[in-house]
Formats: sequence, structure tokens, C-alpha cells
Amino acid sequence: MVSITDIIRPEISSLAAYHVPDAAGLLKLDAMENPYLLPAEMQQALAQHLAQVALNRYPVPSYSGLKQLIADKLGVPADREIVLGNGSDELIAMISVACARPGAKVLAPVPGFVMYAMSAKFAGLEFIGVPLQADLTLDTAAMLAAIRTHRPAITYLAYPNNPTGTLYDADDIVAIAHAVGDSGVVVVDEAYQPFAPTSFMPRLAEFDNLVVMRTVSKLGLAGIRLGYMAGNNALMHEFEKVRPPYNINVLTQAAAEFVLQRVEVLDAQAAELRAQRSQLAMALSALPGVQVFPSAANFLLIRVANAEQVFAKLLDHKILVKNVGKMHSLLENCLRITVSTPEENALFMAALAASLTSK
Ligand code: PMP
Repeated sequence: MVSITDIIRPEISSLAAYHVPDAAGLLKLDAMENPYLLPAEMQQALAQHLAQVALNRYPVPSYSGLKQLIADKLGVPADREIVLGNGSDELIAMISVACARPGAKVLAPVPGFVMYAMSAKFAGLEFIGVPLQADLTLDTAAMLAAIRTHRPAITYLAYPNNPTGTLYDADDIVAIAHAVGDSGVVVVDEAYQPFAPTSFMPRLAEFDNLVVMRTVSKLGLAGIRLGYMAGNNALMHEFEKVRPPYNINVLTQAAAEFVLQRVEVLDAQAAELRAQRSQLAMALSALPGVQVFPSAANFLLIRVANAEQVFAKLLDHKILVKNVGKMHSLLENCLRITVSTPEENALFMAALAASLTSK
């Protein structure tokens, strides 16, 4: 019998693996996916395009065509190097590995995206979580104090934040970037950028230590796994060294190139989801006993009297949301719900209303 305790690092063996619930047969509103497929004729054309891809060859690792399209279609400044990841999860892992000097620390507001802390642990970095305020806005004073105390190598700011949907004040992010200064990188994680009114991508030139990270997942391509980041070119040059050479496979590359050339289709879907977000937030606010937090993302965070019970009743209605109540004390009795199509949102609202009233 192999001895796990002799082989595996204790901080890994004590972890639970990232849990993805089985959603078979359920209306899946737990993972911030875009509910819309590509239009049928575009899927057909994509299938033909993918049929031409040489599966026998490794990808050409410069990915220059794909990077050019990302720059042109998704607004990365032309003078910036782009680093690609197999989802932005992999970019987080790459940043962690590259910055994992002995004793280095990672700082982020909590509750936040769990991979910041997990990736830090995987790479042997210490994670420092700075609690948000009770209304789930950023505690900027606490962030600045923690930066002075800990001098973090990496500071993550999800803009907007997951799981709260909060869009931090841009001036606070600027203050944080200045406080971190030359001794760390500030990663503004814009995973939900298609649903947010502002971005730091056009402001990269103002900061030496800023990295803007994004993904095509929430835009409607979660299945192909493609993330990208840009920032100080010298930093990107270093992060590129820890990128697995062929991390973007040929099918992902070809599919992304095809869809980005027609990105207005996804932009229109995102616009529709932003409109649906307002509708759903209004409908939720009208329900007695439901608190809705402001969101700049494609999900809404709500607080109910008993999240555990409501979660279970929604499951009885075959609806899967995310119960984040146990994630952090600030999220007590909170549920996170992906904004979906008008039809699915209506199903959710009916089930929620029933779940809140039934015993
Ligand atoms: N950043 C944030 C804030 C997220 O919420 C997520 C996914 N839930 C990611 C990054 C990772 O996205 P992906 O790996 O799909 O690109």
C-alpha cells in the first residue's frame, strides 16, 4: 500500500477536491453559464470548420492568429502581450507557480473566487483573505492595511466579484494597485466583463503591476476552456514560461477563432442576459423575505430566511442553484443563481415562490 502521508503534501491531502455537482435532469443555474447555444446555422458552419482541423498535429504554440483576434475583438490594447490559459483557472495556477517564492503571500477579498486560495495552496503560497463589509462591498481600508502588513506577491480582485456580483469601486482598485506598488502583481479578474459596465483593460498603461485576466466562459464558450490575460509585457514574458506548451488544444483554438470572428452573436446574447438580470432582480425584490444584492455579473446573490431549506425545495422542483451559505459567515443564508433565458428565469421564480411559502 502506498503511504499517502509520506508522498502527498499534507496541505493537499487535507483538501477536498473542487466539487462539481451532478446536474443530470436538472435546470442548471449554479455555474454562471450562458444558457444560449450558437444559432443553428453557425453551429453547422463551425462543425464544417472543425472537420478541417488537423488532429494529428500539435497546436502551433505561438497561437498568434488567436491572440490577434482576442486583441481585435475583445479589446486588448495592441501593444500588449497576451498569455492564454486552458480556462482562466489555468492562468491563476500559472501566476501562482511563477510567484511562489519562499514565504510569498496571496491576498484577496473574501468571500471570493475559491480558486485564488486553492491555487495558492497548490503552489505553496500563503493565502490571506480580507473580509468584505457586511453589505458585501470592498473593505478598502482593510485591504490597504493588509497590503502594508503582508506585502503580497499577488493580489486578486474579481471585477465584478464571484459569488457576490459586487463591482468594486474603480478608485479603490487604483488605490490598491498603488499600495501594492513594485513588490507585487494586482490581478483584476474580469471573468464577468461581458455583464459589467467598466473594465481595466483599456487602463493597463496606467499601471506597471496590473494584470487583467478574462475568460470566454461566461460569454458563451465555457465548454472550450479558454482564458487570456494581458498586462506589463515583462511580467507576461515570465508567466509565459510556466504555460504548458500546448495548453490550448487545436479544437479550442479553431472554435475560438471561428466564433470570435462572429463575436457580435455572443455580444447580443450578453446584452439579452443583462436585460434579464434587471428583470429577475426586480422580480426577486418583490418577493417578501428575499434580499437581492446588486450584481454586475450574469448571476444574482440573494438572501433568504433558510437557504438550506430553499435550496432543497428548489432541487425538488429540479432546479439547481448554488448554496453559498456555508462558504463564509458573510454569506449566511445566501443562494447564487445564474441569470438565464426568460423561460428558465420564470420557472425558477415560480419554484422559488413555492419554496418560500411551503413548509
Ligand atoms: N474567475 C472568476 C471570478 C470566476 O468566477 C471563474 C469561474 N467561475 C473563473 C475565474 C474561471 O473561469 P474559467 O476557468 O472558466 O475561465
